[in-house]
Amino acid sequence: MTITYRYGDNLYVNVTNRCPNACEFCLRATGDKVGDSGSLWFKYEPTKEEIWDSIQQRDLTEYRQLVFCGFGEPACRLEEVLWVCQQVRAVSPIPIRINTNGLSDLIHKKPTAPLFAGNFDMVSVSLNAPTPEKYDALCHSEYGLAALPAVLKFTHEVTAYVPYVRMTVVDTMPPKDLEECRRLCEETGAKFEVRHYEPDWQDSPKI
Ligand code: SF4
Repeated sequence: MTITYRYGDNLYVNVTNRCPNACEFCLRATGDKVGDSGSLWFKYEPTKEEIWDSIQQRDLTEYRQLVFCGFGEPACRLEEVLWVCQQVRAVSPIPIRINTNGLSDLIHKKPTAPLFAGNFDMVSVSLNAPTPEKYDALCHSEYGLAALPAVLKFTHEVTAYVPYVRMTVVDTMPPKDLEECRRLCEETGAKFEVRHYEPDWQDSPKI
């Protein structure tokens, strides 16, 4: 069971395979690992103690960031992730990032941005598309047309609680859509980042 793995300079933490989206570009549709991570599919979800135990087996001074990421949407396990953040904070100054689809509020049926305060240094939100219809066509969210507005609302709110918040799009997007995404992102107050599309990986090691 692969809970933690190195990719580039960072330590990635895999906490769940669940996600309310079924994005057409999702790595989970075509593979089971990132780099030499080993399979990221779980037979069962690790407990928060197992996640923390896996992190403790690493030397955190060897990594630039600790990143909660896929193979799934880490905010599906927000309570456990927050607990793990607090354990990490108690022993290490390593910056903590979460890569998220931004659907935390809909997943938990409440505003969740305040819970991010103090636990994350960075939040990276996938924007994916400039309209609810295009988002739904690409991401097939179980929340349908409500998904993108919720992503934008969450992103705006979390900028009040986390020092660095960005929204990302991939560079395969049509230029007109990309500019509209840039406008939507700027309205949230988050930084905007265009990532180079790599079919075997969906993250940018830039920050
Ligand atoms: S939001 Fe992320 S984990 Fe979920 S389906 Fe899309 S790419 Fe995959």
